[in-house]
Amino acid sequence: MKNLDNLELWFVTGSQHLYGPEALKQVAENSKQVAAALDASSRIPVNVTFKTVGETPEEIRSICLEANNAQKCIGLIIWCHTFSPAKMWIGGLGVLKKPFLHLHTQFFRDLPWGEIDMDYMNLHQAAHGDREFGFMCSRMRIERKVVVGHWQDDEVQDRIGVWARAARGWYAMQGAKICRIGDNMREVSVTEGDKVAAEARFGYSVNGYGVGDVVQFVNAASDADVDALCQAYADEYDVVNSLLKGGERHESLRDGARIELGLRAFLEDKGASGFTTTFEDLHGLKQLPGLSVQRLMRDGYGFGAEGDWKTAALLRTMKVMAEGLDEGTSFMEDYTYHLNPEGHKVLGAHMLEICPSIAEGKPSLEIHPLGIGGKEDPVRLVFNVPAGPAINATVVDLGNRFRLVVNDVDVVAPDAPLPNLPVARAVWKPKPDFKTSAASWIHAGGSHHPIFSIALTSEAMEDFAAIAGIEMLLIDENTTVSQVRKELRSNDVYYHDNTGFSRAG
Ligand code: MN
Repeated sequence: MKNLDNLELWFVTGSQHLYGPEALKQVAENSKQVAAALDASSRIPVNVTFKTVGETPEEIRSICLEANNAQKCIGLIIWCHTFSPAKMWIGGLGVLKKPFLHLHTQFFRDLPWGEIDMDYMNLHQAAHGDREFGFMCSRMRIERKVVVGHWQDDEVQDRIGVWARAARGWYAMQGAKICRIGDNMREVSVTEGDKVAAEARFGYSVNGYGVGDVVQFVNAASDADVDALCQAYADEYDVVNSLLKGGERHESLRDGARIELGLRAFLEDKGASGFTTTFEDLHGLKQLPGLSVQRLMRDGYGFGAEGDWKTAALLRTMKVMAEGLDEGTSFMEDYTYHLNPEGHKVLGAHMLEICPSIAEGKPSLEIHPLGIGGKEDPVRLVFNVPAGPAINATVVDLGNRFRLVVNDVDVVAPDAPLPNLPVARAVWKPKPDFKTSAASWIHAGGSHHPIFSIALTSEAMEDFAAIAGIEMLLIDENTTVSQVRKELRSNDVYYHDNTGFSRAG
C-alpha cells in the first residue's frame, strides 16, 4: 500500500538522574536491546526504533513534540526500566498526539535468586516504576494499551503487534480522502452521518462527486488497456465461457473492465483511498460497478455501497491494519438467515461488492441479471469464504458521537452448495449465539453493512477504538443482552459530549 513503508514505533524509556551515569548507561543499553528485539520480531508489523531515555521533564516533552511532527512515527512504546517520577511526564503526555503503548516489562526474565543484591534491585524496578507512570496516565485520563510480560515472550510481542496494526490504521486515517460518488441510497438512515464530526474525530475527509466525474475517466479508457485487463481476468479467475473473447457476453466483460480502469484512474486522480457508489445514481455507466469494486477492495481501497462513507473509511482502515496477513477483509451485508433451531446461521453477501481477499479458492467471474438499478447485467466475482474465526465491525453515527460495534463470529461451510446464488457469500454463526448477537447488535444500532474480517481480531478493534477515543461495544462469547443494554446506558453517560471524560485536568 502506498505511503505505508518504513513506518515506525518510537521506543522511549523513562528514568531519572538519581541513578547516576553508570546506571543510566545500562538503562540505555538494555533499552536498545529490547527495542532491537521488537524491531526484529515478525509478530510486530512495523519498525521499532529506540529513541531516548527520558530523564527530565524537558527531555520528555521534547521527545513527545518530536513524535507529533515525525512523518513516519505512528506511535510510541513507553517503558520505565527504573523509577521515573511521573510528574516529569505531565508536560509530555499533555502535548502528545500520537498513540502510545505502555510496555510493562523487565529486562531480565528471571530473578537471579542466588546473586540478587540492592544494585540489581535499583536497576530493575519497572515493577514500581511502571506503576508510577501508569498512575499519571490514568490521572490524566489518557487512553493507552498496557501490555504486561517479558519482552521476549511471544504472547507479549503478539499484543504489541496487534496494537501496532491499530496504530497503523489510525495513521492511515489521518488525511485519508473518501470519494462519495453519487449520494446516498434514498431514505436510508444508517449510511448517513456528520462528515464534519467524522473528520474532526477520525481525521479523514469525505467529499461528493457526480457520477459523471467518473464516467469521464471510464470513457477515456483505451481499447488496448481494456484488452489487457480482460486477459488479466482470464489469467486470474475462472471466467465463464460466455464472457471470454468470442463469447456472446464478452462485450459486458469489456464494459466491466472499462469501468475498473476508469474508477481506478478517477481515484488515483483524486488521491483517494476509499469511495462509495450508489445504484440509484449510475447515469452514464452501463453497469453497477461490481467486479471493479471487488478488485479495488482487494488492492486496499475502502468501499461502502449505497453512499456508506463511514463504512468505506472503516474498511480502508481495517485493510491497512490487516496488511501483511494472509487472510482478508471485506465490505459485507447481513443478508438473510437460516433460523433452524438446530443451528441458526447468517448468510452474508451484497448485491455484488464482496472483496476476493476473503475467497476460498479461485473466484469465478460471472454475469447475471441484477433486479435493481435498471442497468445492464453486471459482471462479478463469485466465491465462498473458508470456515474459521472472523469478526464483523461497524461504525455508526449516533448524532453526538460515533460508536463502534464488533461481533466475534465463526464462519462455517454452507449446509449445501448454492448453485443459484450469483454473488460471493459467507455463512457464519455469531457469538455467543445468533439470538443474543442479533439483539445486541440491534440494541446498539449497528448497521447492516459491517466490515467482515478473517484477518483481524476484536482486540485490534478495541485498540483502534481506544486510539480514536470512541465507544466500542463488543459482542463476544460472554455477552448477554441484559449486560449490553446496561453498558449502552452507561456509555450514553460516559460519552455524553462525544469526548467522554478523557483528558480531564
Ligand atoms: Mn447494502
